[in-house]
Amino acid sequence: MLQRSVAACDAHPAVSELVVVLPADWVAEGPSLVGTTRAACRVVAGGERRQDSVRAGVAAVSDAATIVLVHDAARPFVSREVIDRVVIAAGESGAAVPAIPVADTVKRVAVADTYRHVVRTEPRAEVWLAQTPQGFRREVLVAAMAAGEGHTEATDEAQLVEWMGSEVRVVEGDVSNVKVTTSRDVEQAQALWTAQSRVGTGYDLHRLVEGRPLVLAGLTIPFERGPLAHSDGDVVCHALTDAILGAAGVGDIGQLFPNTDARWKDAAGLDLLGRAVAAVREHGWRVVNVDVTVVLERPQLAPHVPAIRASLATVLGVPVEAVSVKGKTNEGVDAVGTGDAIASHAVALLKRGRP
Ligand code: MG
Repeated sequence: MLQRSVAACDAHPAVSELVVVLPADWVAEGPSLVGTTRAACRVVAGGERRQDSVRAGVAAVSDAATIVLVHDAARPFVSREVIDRVVIAAGESGAAVPAIPVADTVKRVAVADTYRHVVRTEPRAEVWLAQTPQGFRREVLVAAMAAGEGHTEATDEAQLVEWMGSEVRVVEGDVSNVKVTTSRDVEQAQALWTAQSRVGTGYDLHRLVEGRPLVLAGLTIPFERGPLAHSDGDVVCHALTDAILGAAGVGDIGQLFPNTDARWKDAAGLDLLGRAVAAVREHGWRVVNVDVTVVLERPQLAPHVPAIRASLATVLGVPVEAVSVKGKTNEGVDAVGTGDAIASHAVALLKRGRP
């Protein structure tokens, strides 16, 4: 849950650094608990009260930061849109919280000796449930923490700003941005997590020339021509690699495996595909199924389809039924149609791995 909450913030382009506040006896293993992040990440020890932990966190934020977001590690589903709204409103007003309206009728309740009773019904439109991240211009948060020093525990940072008498702007939260608190919440969060899916597409084309092997899904197909490429020119693997990386939103084949890098210049397509599967797995995604179309004039693909599917299924870690491969000709049109090039299109569906 910590990793996912951190990753949700890390994925936002406006987030330039991360500070993770952990119980003191977790700090040593903090970096391994957090995992790798795009933004620089520091791990610091928290304090007794929530505001003590936040103070320790804010103290570790670099001087260059103008806006500080405070997020609960128990909210792994925060969206980019919610973070956007908080960042913008915090910049404008100094302090902002995401909140959602309540659906139920709200009763103010008092406790008598042995029972509870309704004092009154609160106007529902005026009651909102606050979420995180809460956003602050840095100087506002620092001043609010100093002003709130004498108070008892604040349940959120916005409360410190309220105590200071300053305005806290409310922006639209998200019902999916739940705080995972009870074991029932954990079950629901796991179900919500594994229900997430993403789709991506990929495309590749190589010229066909004499004297090169025709490699598809790592298999050499008997033919007199093959792709002109630094690598093996495996259009099936290259298109599929892009589809998988694209579905996870983690870049493309050229970014992850640039052919200007000696490591990848002559890399086998099947190897890159395996690396792409590992890369998206690190981001919590697994491949569900793929569909590949190979466009080539000759040779006929059909006799090789079972072996291509089996080869891909092994690397993707899915049953062979989850791998579809289809051959098409280009009806004599364009370079593919004249047999001077081979192309491939791929679609991949990913789902979240087990939490
Ligand atoms: Mg290629």
